[in-house]
Amino acid sequence: MNIKTPYIWKNWDFIKWEEAMDHNLTHSLHYWTWVFEWIRFYPTDRWPKIFRLEEHIDRLFYSASTLELKIPFTKEEIKKAHIDIVAKSWIESGYLRPIIYYGTGKMWMNPEWAKVETVISAWNWWKYLADTAIKVKVSKYKRMHPETANIDAKVSWWYYNNVLVSLEVKKENFDEWLLLDTNWFIAEWPGENIFFIKWSDIITPKAWTILPWITRATIIELVQSKLNIKVKEEKILQEQLEYFDEAFFVGTAAEVTPIWSISFNSKNINYLSWEKNSLTEKIKKIYFSVVMGKDEEYKKWLS
Ligand code: PMP
Repeated sequence: MNIKTPYIWKNWDFIKWEEAMDHNLTHSLHYWTWVFEWIRFYPTDRWPKIFRLEEHIDRLFYSASTLELKIPFTKEEIKKAHIDIVAKSWIESGYLRPIIYYGTGKMWMNPEWAKVETVISAWNWWKYLADTAIKVKVSKYKRMHPETANIDAKVSWWYYNNVLVSLEVKKENFDEWLLLDTNWFIAEWPGENIFFIKWSDIITPKAWTILPWITRATIIELVQSKLNIKVKEEKILQEQLEYFDEAFFVGTAAEVTPIWSISFNSKNINYLSWEKNSLTEKIKKIYFSVVMGKDEEYKKWLS
């Protein structure tokens, strides 16, 4: 993956890669006081289009509000900045990373008065997870409790938990980990939400200890409108993993990724999600036709 791009958008200017530097006494470097998004853009029949940009910007502003970060631009201006950096980068498909953070000017814990910096970069990126079904293990780390802070915001500090999990992944022969919450209910993977299928029922963990936003809502809407299935949002215990036929992860980065197996307590549960005629594969196809602008009805989600 090459993330070196000619330009980065910073505080309403395009700056060169080499100029994109911050001071060592940047508040967010010391206290994790930044918010961010993962956004994808795809090649469509005309030019690259950003998927669900408005919803990502809504979440960015919501996340910023939880840290009292006052974004010095309107939502419309931030939207334009994303579209401009894609055009300026000459990339057909890839990834957008807006990040808003407390910069220099204050070194106390309370960040008030530190300068707010707004940075958006775009880089080339296609697949995040493998193209095939993946092997997953339940992690020893738990997803943070919602009473610890706003864990429905995309805020840096709780990604420490996710970074720990991704370091754990490397040490064993699995593709990904699944996190339970502190009450031992299924939560999510550090970068995705999870769905299960039993017969033609589709079930996903209730929005409580997860980041319940864009792709999850997209899938809930698409399976309702295209397959006439109403997704059930429930609390799911680890032991129930044995009961499902199929399982898949969804997220901006992982898109729709079928799960081959989930392991916990030395058990290994296999799923049929990877089969050609599985419901997971059907949902995956629907998702890709929407993000690639092939579905007329949902072109409204592309900017
Ligand atoms: N959970 C976590 C922890 C994430 O970081 C992400 C990626 N943003 C998701 C779920 C999926 O969210 P979305 O579909 O909004 O990208």
